Amino acid sequence: MSSPHDLVLASANAGKITELQQMLGGLGVKIIPQTDLDIPDIEETGLTFVENAILKARNAAALSNLPAIADDSGLEVDFLRGAPGIYSARFAGENAGDKANKEKLLQLMADVPADQRSARYQTVIVYMRHGNDPTPIICQGTWEGLIATESRGDQGFGYDPIFYVTETNCHAAELDKVTKNCLSHRGKAIANLLQQLQTR
Ligand code: IMP
Repeated sequence: MSSPHDLVLASANAGKITELQQMLGGLGVKIIPQTDLDIPDIEETGLTFVENAILKARNAAALSNLPAIADDSGLEVDFLRGAPGIYSARFAGENAGDKANKEKLLQLMADVPADQRSARYQTVIVYMRHGNDPTPIICQGTWEGLIATESRGDQGFGYDPIFYVTETNCHAAELDKVTKNCLSHRGKAIANLLQQLQTR
């Protein structure tokens, strides 16, 4: 059963849900993944992170009658002119998993010299009070790094094993969750969201 303090997470991605639940823990509200309410994923028809995040938040808020938070995110690789970008989750095909996506990227980048391997994670987080909210809160976060030549680490999710973090001299999947949440695109966007929610 839901209470007035419940908040829906508009995602079925286990890695994202874990990180968002950790970061939103201090809000004092119950964070419910949309899958727990049998809310299906909506098709991501937008051409930008912001459009897709709004679609997802609106879908979850409308179907749950609760406030909702959505994260649309991805990895932009400069050598690939920003790919996989908004298509990061489906880079190796519509139902591809993290492993296939990561391997496709490693392969495409196999012969690329070290000075051309720059990349960044992007996220847009959208908070909607209800399905018809005309003024959603929209926060963005970016995390700069490099595409490594091999996988390392078993933390995190998605492309983390091949995302080299210059600040810490290791792959993102080698970072503990607290450190990743402090440095990451998602951590930065959520910090901004929490600040904005305080003044609403
Ligand atoms: P979305 O669910 O359409 O927003 O797709 C997000 C995809 O971007 C994920 O499935 C991952 O492939 C990638 N991604 C986003 N954030 C992260 C992260 O923090 N670590 C690793 N991969 C990420």
